Amino acid sequence: MPRGICKLCLKDKDLQDSHLMPAALHRMCRTEEVEPVVITSKFMMTSSRQVSDYLLCFDCEQILNRNGEHWVLPKLATWDRGFPFYNLLTEIPAVVKDGKLLAYASGRNPSIDAGKVIHFAMGIFWKAAVHSWRGGKTEPRLQLGPYTELIRQFVIGDAAFPENVALSLHVLSPPAKAFTFFQPYQGAARGSFRVSAFYVPGMEFTLSVGKRIPIEIMRTAVSTAPDHAILAHDFSGQMHEMYKRLSGKAKKSKKLVQLLANSKLRTPAPTS
Ligand SMILES: [Zn+2]
Repeated sequence: MPRGICKLCLKDKDLQDSHLMPAALHRMCRTEEVEPVVITSKFMMTSSRQVSDYLLCFDCEQILNRNGEHWVLPKLATWDRGFPFYNLLTEIPAVVKDGKLLAYASGRNPSIDAGKVIHFAMGIFWKAAVHSWRGGKTEPRLQLGPYTELIRQFVIGDAAFPENVALSLHVLSPPAKAFTFFQPYQGAARGSFRVSAFYVPGMEFTLSVGKRIPIEIMRTAVSTAPDHAILAHDFSGQMHEMYKRLSGKAKKSKKLVQLLANSKLRTPAPTS
């Protein structure tokens, strides 16, 4: 086990083989016939290969596990067992309905631990902001500027959720399904704030950072809105568009091309 400075506690420790996306996601997004699809803007492959590197000490891995992953992962959408998180979220009626979009006050729902949801997402965004997770590259996957350190302090538990940061959560309402995951990617800068996002089965997290985050984002964010707003709607159409866009740019692996030819690729599906 290599020794080095743990990126989270900043202490000289034995380092674990840390994953950008929790290893359980790879198991969840595959069946006997289909391996998970991993997409970046450069490359797209079906692979059980997992993105990992020596980054965190054992104690810090436990912080991520205990404060978020352990609660969230068993509740993501699955091939065979439905979508437990959605079932819990909709135990109480939505507070706002805007067309097909429903907003839930998760802070008023005793079955939802919004703190765990927020920690889960911030842990993944933070890991993407302190490491490249790509062989041969040194630049971090996400550029979060001074917010990286503020988010580190939040993730380790030394500080409250940072100001000028908003975490939004969109839940994919059944019957729409998309059993895949997207690693964190950086969107284009929008004026004076930046947006990054990632997707895990059933849940899309969006992180906005900057001094001028629009009020409508702040008011509908799980992190900042009163009652920890969580939005539920069918965004599988947008996902399908993004998938097409990314996959058009990405070099496809041989195995994926075969799977596509056999039409066994069920992910992501526009709707069920
Ligand atoms: Zn550590």
